[in-house]
Formats: sequence, structure tokens, C-alpha cells
Amino acid sequence: MNPRVMKFGGSSVADAACMRQVATLVREALPAAPLVVLSAMGKTTNALFAAAKAAEAGDLPAALEGVKALIRAHRSSAEGLFATGLPEDLDRFLTEAFGQLELFLRGVALLHELSPRTQDAIAAHGELLSTRIFAAFLRSEGLDATWVDARQVLRTDATFGEGQPQTGRIKALALEKLLPSLGPGRVAVTQGYIGATEDGLTTTLGRGGSDYSAALFGAALRASEVQIWTDVEGVLTCDPRIVPNALPIPELAFDEAAELAAFGAKVLHPATIQPAVEADIPVTVRHTQRPGGRFTTITSHVSSGRSVTALASRGPVTVLTVASSRMLAQSGFLARLFEVFGRLKVSVDLIATAEVSVSLTVDADAPLQALQEQLSSFASVNIHEDRAIVAVVGERLKKTAGLGGRLFGALNDINIEMISMGANEINLSLVVRRSDEHEALRRLHAALIETDHLKGGQP
Ligand code: ASP
Ligand code: MG
Repeated sequence: MNPRVMKFGGSSVADAACMRQVATLVREALPAAPLVVLSAMGKTTNALFAAAKAAEAGDLPAALEGVKALIRAHRSSAEGLFATGLPEDLDRFLTEAFGQLELFLRGVALLHELSPRTQDAIAAHGELLSTRIFAAFLRSEGLDATWVDARQVLRTDATFGEGQPQTGRIKALALEKLLPSLGPGRVAVTQGYIGATEDGLTTTLGRGGSDYSAALFGAALRASEVQIWTDVEGVLTCDPRIVPNALPIPELAFDEAAELAAFGAKVLHPATIQPAVEADIPVTVRHTQRPGGRFTTITSHVSSGRSVTALASRGPVTVLTVASSRMLAQSGFLARLFEVFGRLKVSVDLIATAEVSVSLTVDADAPLQALQEQLSSFASVNIHEDRAIVAVVGERLKKTAGLGGRLFGALNDINIEMISMGANEINLSLVVRRSDEHEALRRLHAALIETDHLKGGQP
């Protein structure tokens, strides 16, 4: 039977009460052969990064203080789970794991050096701890639960801090090391975020990487579903902190989800989407504390009637307008232009071309001075910082007549500095001043999404 992947984020396993709730959901899912993938508890990963940074700066006392706080938090959560005290093997694991963490930090402090490789070895402790505690708890509750070290399965290359998964290897290893622990009535518990190289060196997939892990495991095992359990009822039409009227989206196309994620929607890590899309596995986003509530199903094909599915935005970004002293159409200009970005390893986001100039957006932390220097040898450059990209996303955008009129009407006095429609035609992106970002989202939401909704369309 195809297992079900259930991934729980840091907020879902933040303390004993949260873990009990997760255990309840896992127990209910036992017939579906669950593979549970956990993040580190609460903000543990942040704390581990902070301790590592403190050690690198030579502040060992601060680093060790950070470890102490983590020991207290993990031990007190564990004590809240086991009425008659911690099982001996868990107690020993916690002592050893924190002992090792302390050694690593002492080494970093001694050398004043924190390589990405060491950083990964330190950061991995968060997920190792949360999964050990949780698996022990499931067993104490009488479940047939196996703890699996994700590093035995999630093979990556040696790009520490951002390991690139080797899907072929992961598949083979998942069948060998994970599948035997899976089946109806049993549960396997493993870590999100972490992996290992072929040589057994610990790597991570990058911050927020647990969703990615869940999708990779799901694809490798041909899961029936990958469930991302978090603290929202699915994906919303916009960030509710900015647009209080944001609505849950019941069904979202993979392409739309990928666009939203890439444009800063908080729910999913962009890379999460890919392994699941390729394996055609539905991904659902659900609320851990309200399991009976609304949720979003992300699948490859959605046939709903709405023209705009959701809005997202990202800022600050910087807009560069590059004008050739000669005509833009002159062959080779764009090649020279992008060669500069390639050389400086700056990724370009939106592009819009006019007759004699090209406008493009780059991240706010791009090396502007170096770009300016290298570009100005053959073009003039104008730089506008503190801009934001507002993305209007929907599979039916291109088929919706009159959308442009509604969009411009809604924005009215808000100046649109750049417009770009992706080749996939599901994302219409606008660049506005960052001070206009939120107001633009609210107006577009009212004009393009709430109106549809009132007319009875999806969502
Ligand atoms: N614990 C890791 C982080 O905080 C991975 C994750 O939660 O997805 O980045
Ligand atoms: Mg997370």
C-alpha cells in the first residue's frame, strides 16, 4: 500500500501539548501507513543558528547559554509527555546529543570559524531531537513506531547549507530503509530538513526545508498524499496580515502554488512543489489544531472557474533600468547584459523591454555597485531601490477578458513602474513602490478576488 506522508512544522511540535495533538492525528492515520516527517520544535533552528554565530564570534558563554535554554525546553517538553519519567534510551540520547552539540560549539569558538558544513552538523540537532522525543512518545502510547535517521535516506550532494537532493539514490534508499517500517497500523518517524552526502556527512536542504523533505520522501515512496500540517487552514488568497479578507483556496494548481511560493507566499517552500508534481502526488496544506477545518489540495490540474486565484508580493527589490547607448535591437546587447549578471551570480527576476532599454528586478541585497560598474562600460544604468513585486496569479488569467481594465482601475493612483507576464501566463507581475505594496494588494484583492467570490465563483 502507498504510504501517506504527514509533515508537521515547528509550530505543530513546539511543546508537549502540541506533540500530543500530533500524536492524535498520527493515531487516526495509522490505517494509511503514515510516514511522519518533523521539523525542529518551535524556533529551535533559529536558536541553533544563533548559538553557532555566537561561537564563531568567540562568545562561547552566549553559545553555551543558548544550548542550556534548548536543553531546558526539550527536557521540559519531554517531561510533559512521559508521566512516569523519560524512557532510559531517550534520556541517554538527549544527554549525548546536547553533549555533542556543546563540543561542536566549543570547536567553533576555539577556531572562530563556522563553515557551512559545521553549521549543518549543528543545525541538524533540532530535527534529531524533535523526532527522537516524538517517536519515544508514540511508543509509550502503545504505537508501533520506528525512528528513522533521514540521513540514511535523503542523499544530497556536498553543497552544505543547501544540499541538492539526489532523487535516484533517495528512491532506492527509501525502499530499502524506510519502506520496511511502513504499513497499515505502523508508523515511521523521520526528520525534515536534514540529509547526508554519500560519505555520510550531514547536510541540510536550507531553511524551511522540511516541506521539501516531505515531498522528496513522498515522491520516492509514491505516497498517496503528502500532508503539510501547519498553523493555517490551507493556502489563502493573500497574506491575511495584509488583507484581512483573505479566503482559503480549496484547490490550487501546482503551477499556481509554485508561482505563489516563489512570490513570497508564506505557506510552502517553493522547492516543495517539484518532487510532488513530477510524481503526480496531491499535496494538502492543513491546520494541525483544526484538523476538521478547511484545507487546500494542490494538484497538477484544477478546473475551477475563478480568473484570479491569489495574490502575493515580495519586497524590497531593486529595479535596474539599463539603456544601451546604441539601439537595443543591436545584436548581442542582451547577451552582454546578462553575461554581467551571470558573472556576478545575480539572479534576475522580472524583465521588461522597451525600444532602447531593459528593466529588470534583482534582490535588494544584489551587489549594485559591481553591477553598475560592469554595466556602465557599455550601457547607462538607472537604479531604483525599495520597490516591491505584486503578483496576480491564476490559471485562467489569460482567458479573462477585461482583467487589465479592472486591475488598472483598482490601482488607479498607485504608480505601476513595471509589468511582466510570465511565459506560462499564470502570473501577472507588477512593480510598485514598496510604500504602495500593501495598499495595492488590498485593492487588487477587493477588485479581482472578492468580487468573483461574491458572484459565487471559486474559491
Ligand atoms: N527546522 C528547519 C528550519 O527552521 C526546517 C523547517 O522547519 O522546515 O528552517
Ligand atoms: Mg518550517
